[in-house]
Amino acid sequence: MQGHRPTYVEIDLDALRHNLRQVRRQTGEERQILAVVKADAYGHGAARVAPALQDAGAALFGVAIAEAGVELRGAGVTRPVLVLGGVYPGQEGELLRHRLTPCLFDLETAKRIDRAARSAGQVCPYHLKVDTGMGRIGFRPEELPGVLPGLAGMKGLRMEGLISHLALADEPQNPFTEEQARRFREILAEVRAAGFAPQHAHISNSAALFTREIPECNVVRPGIVLYGGQPLASGPGLDLQPVMSFRSRVAQLKEVPAGTGISYGHRFVAERPTVLAAIPVGYADGYSRHLSGCGEVLVRGRRATVAGTVCMDWTLVDVTDIPGVGVGDEVTLLGRDNGSRITAEEWAGKTGTISYEVFCQVSKRVPRIYRDGRR
Ligand SMILES: *Cc1c(COP(=O)(O)O)cnc(C)c1O
Repeated sequence: MQGHRPTYVEIDLDALRHNLRQVRRQTGEERQILAVVKADAYGHGAARVAPALQDAGAALFGVAIAEAGVELRGAGVTRPVLVLGGVYPGQEGELLRHRLTPCLFDLETAKRIDRAARSAGQVCPYHLKVDTGMGRIGFRPEELPGVLPGLAGMKGLRMEGLISHLALADEPQNPFTEEQARRFREILAEVRAAGFAPQHAHISNSAALFTREIPECNVVRPGIVLYGGQPLASGPGLDLQPVMSFRSRVAQLKEVPAGTGISYGHRFVAERPTVLAAIPVGYADGYSRHLSGCGEVLVRGRRATVAGTVCMDWTLVDVTDIPGVGVGDEVTLLGRDNGSRITAEEWAGKTGTISYEVFCQVSKRVPRIYRDGRR
């Protein structure tokens, strides 16, 4: 199909590189950056984002599912790709063929991959996932004495890294992060004493980047900061640039008299003669239905409020107070317009979520358009 609907997402690869440089500046040269590009690079499009980050110096990549790792290989990512989530029965062959690195957190999976690796004549590098207090996945510290000898005997596997995840890094005052770091250091020593030599040790997500130094860790795993999201509600932050803008255009304008009910349920009733703009974006695009009646968009650099219920494919906004609005005018749902800006954090605050979910929710039917000052 030639052209597309006026609703699209713009991804600024220069802003992405800027954010990576900020992370680099924060962590110093001695740590490697594992760029987390799971969930299609938080909705930004991993096939474009990951190669750009690779060129800009990201040393490793993290995805949640093996399928996403295969996609990265197809997009030209040659650096190690860590599968942060599980590897499920039947995926071993693809994993090995594409040289993806599993995180192992149970012996059954380890055995399956070991078997597949040996029969392929390979040694599969893996990162051992340990649960230091997130309480999600990972071997628990007390299991390790029983597990490590078994892993040592698997000749198709080689421990290349040790990984854990922080539960409370976004609460810089919370002492639990220190406790997790302490457990992690102990486990690292235990693993080394058992004869393993993991080159990589890592526990820090974005929030931990500028609140904790964990000297044993030589890799950091930023996600949200690469996309311009601040991981802490307040306190220290990085000089980040938003990467994603979400835009559409006014499809139709109408003037209605006071008393007119608008959209499903007539949850908006005009209190005055009102000018409404219909925008071809809805919750099927990821424009949350929770923005009904409270979301704000930018038109001609000014804020306009969502009138009534957000529909699957349409949203109405009240532009009565913005002079001169015309059909075809650009509408910014997320991002900058002239001097104004709608941030993912603002949007998330209205829908009861976090910026991460705002980005991930932008659906596949919204085309991503990439801006790259280098090309
Ligand atoms: C998502 C994720 C990250 C990145 O988290 P951010 O808060 O986006 O920096 C790091 N490590 C693991 C294991 C993750 O699942």
